[in-house]
Amino acid sequence: MSDRHIYDKCPLCGGQNFKKFNEADCSGHDLYHPSLSPVITWNLCSDCRHVFTDGYFTDASNEIIFSKTHPHQSVGHDIENNRTRSAPMVEKVLPFAKDGVWMDVGFGNGSLLFTAMEFGFKPIGVDLRKDCVEAMIQIGIEAYCQDITTLDLSPKCRVVSLMDVLEHVPFPKDFLKAVHRNMEDGGVLLISCPNSESLVWDYLTGSGTNPYWGEIEHFHNFSRTRLYALLEEMGFKPQRFGVSQRYRLGMEIVATKI
Ligand SMILES: [Zn+2]
Repeated sequence: MSDRHIYDKCPLCGGQNFKKFNEADCSGHDLYHPSLSPVITWNLCSDCRHVFTDGYFTDASNEIIFSKTHPHQSVGHDIENNRTRSAPMVEKVLPFAKDGVWMDVGFGNGSLLFTAMEFGFKPIGVDLRKDCVEAMIQIGIEAYCQDITTLDLSPKCRVVSLMDVLEHVPFPKDFLKAVHRNMEDGGVLLISCPNSESLVWDYLTGSGTNPYWGEIEHFHNFSRTRLYALLEEMGFKPQRFGVSQRYRLGMEIVATKI
């Protein structure tokens, strides 16, 4: 049985003009399990230039992958140092929003939400890892263990953060639609993911040390150009570009709801 549902069209533009672009060994990844394929195949869409894996995991494969939690994804992990790492991310949002509901999707160790609270935001967490959600609820923070495409919050969020999340999502457009629906007018999106459009990306690819081709949890390698076009298509206006201090090769973008 296959471990992935195969994309029959580009998950961003729906085009069918795509072909194999790269492949990588993922058998050394922490979350790899021998029941999964040891090779990740990447496609390039010739219509919109998006780069994506040949398929996304079945529920059974997800269960295998989600059965392990990285230590850095446990709620409260390295809480003091992570506060210092999270503060610059909150500060990027401040010119656009100073308070209100802040929803972090894929909150992991919770640090960004804890820090946003210190700045005066009301935190809401969403994560697919049950133990993370339970830990969050136990410390009194509103949290949901569900796909945000099924979430309808009231009141809506002033800020939504997706820190290294979108590249894990099989269909990013449905995901961004749900973010848009759950956001106040003029709300702020803070989004990060690896940026494939940089010299350092090409350099690491050329030397065979780019970690993202073998990243078992990712289905997409976004370029800045493709992500900006996607955000605009989904009703967000990119306001500022930045480099992530937390993730390798990462870009961190602030956008506002149109
Ligand atoms: Zn495409």
